[in-house]
Amino acid sequence: MAEADHVERYSVVIVGGGAGGLSVAARLRRQNPGLTIAVIDPSSTHAYQPAWTLVGAGVMTTAQTLRQEGGLIPPRVTWLREGVHSFQPDEHSVTLESGKVVGYHRLVVCPGIQLNWGQIPGLKETLGRNGVTSNYDRDSAAYTWECVRHLGQGTAIFTQPPMPIKCAGAPQKAVYLSSDYWRREGVLHHINVHFCMAGDALFGVPYFVPTLQKTMDYYGVNVHQKENLIAVDGEKKEATFQRVGTDETVVRSFDMLHVVPPQSAPDFVKNSVLANENGWLDVDPQTLRHKKYDTIFGLGDVIGTSNAKTAAAARDQAPIVAENVLNSLAGKPLSGHYDGYGACPLTVAYGRVVLAEFLYGGKVAPSFPYDQRKPSRFAWFLKTEVFPRLYWYGMLKGIDPKIKHKVLNRS
Ligand SMILES: Cc1cc2nc3c(=O)[nH]c(=O)nc-3n(C[C@H](O)[C@H](O)[C@H](O)COP(=O)(O)OP(=O)(O)OC[C@H]3O[C@@H](n4cnc5c(N)ncnc54)[C@H](O)[C@@H]3O)c2cc1C
Repeated sequence: MAEADHVERYSVVIVGGGAGGLSVAARLRRQNPGLTIAVIDPSSTHAYQPAWTLVGAGVMTTAQTLRQEGGLIPPRVTWLREGVHSFQPDEHSVTLESGKVVGYHRLVVCPGIQLNWGQIPGLKETLGRNGVTSNYDRDSAAYTWECVRHLGQGTAIFTQPPMPIKCAGAPQKAVYLSSDYWRREGVLHHINVHFCMAGDALFGVPYFVPTLQKTMDYYGVNVHQKENLIAVDGEKKEATFQRVGTDETVVRSFDMLHVVPPQSAPDFVKNSVLANENGWLDVDPQTLRHKKYDTIFGLGDVIGTSNAKTAAAARDQAPIVAENVLNSLAGKPLSGHYDGYGACPLTVAYGRVVLAEFLYGGKVAPSFPYDQRKPSRFAWFLKTEVFPRLYWYGMLKGIDPKIKHKVLNRS
């Protein structure tokens, strides 16, 4: 490798200091204190996004989900506070938005997923106003709660775009918690609740679908499959949907609209040589090493593997990426193998969660010895009390314990 004198070079460069990036940085730092490590991330605030569902339901405040990024960067890891613009894998370097070039011996790519708000005409202009909200937006999650609390009658619409999205269960979590709030307030029968989804299955793992369908029925939610949101008129309070696979459109009036935006790999990954045909980072599903460039690894929402895009998946992937980066630096075979673990705590009511855990191929893989299709108070306790702590004090410090999951022969 030709190393130009003017290029700052690190043993490991990590693109994205979110859930996956900080976890890998902390693990590498602990396992090999001799490495020089840089995390590149323009954002000064770090969010525990899984709790935004709870912010939208009034269980937490936005402030409780946020920390200063600077305080989370592991000791003796350099934070380069700007965005990556492009990759030069043959030169073992990345170019930042300022034009600065940063070199690496190993690169870990984990800049998350891109939320394409602009793809729905009218949405950006009205988000956070006119009853239009989203738990996927840090600044709007609290507005969801405001809309829910103030709706005593009328029509509430919740949308779900085409897959893949991060936390595929989050659009329906908002439906359940809002409906449960209205039920407890005694107004649910005055509100028409609609869940309009682009897909045709409530959840990707069939094992959990009957429970979720029962929950939708219990709240009297009108589920519309193969309906994709294509435009919003905030002033008129109208949402336009296209019936998937046809030119037919349906205009629905709303008093409250909870939108989950279409999502994709970030443009700078999509437009790079590191992307697969769909734009995602092209890594091997087991080793998480790039299929073409063997000095590059990836994890989190950006990778083009078939697991669920969740923080739970990133938590399982981080030790594997750290192990394989160290193997690779030492010239050893890659010993870390990822089984596709992902988890989705479906908040079916206040105080109750269906904890869906699964592997590649939709294999059900519970961590606890009870039927996890059953709504559970224990799993609510995990979601609201244990997981946030595990994230801040375990995962981001690189010391979270490996939780064993048992594979059921069901999918
Ligand atoms: C409403 C909601 C509910 C959710 N619920 C759950 C849940 O219950 N359970 C669960 O496990 N997961 C849940 N998730 C998903 C979870 O938050 C993500 O899967 C997880 O954060 C992915 O980690 P990541 O490191 O890939 O990306 P992120 O944590 O999003 O981090 C990406 C980082 O990359 C940085 N970045 C972006 N572009 C660049 C660039 N050009 N250069 C450098 N850095 C860049 C960003 O600033 C960011 O810090 C939820 C998400 C949402 C929005």
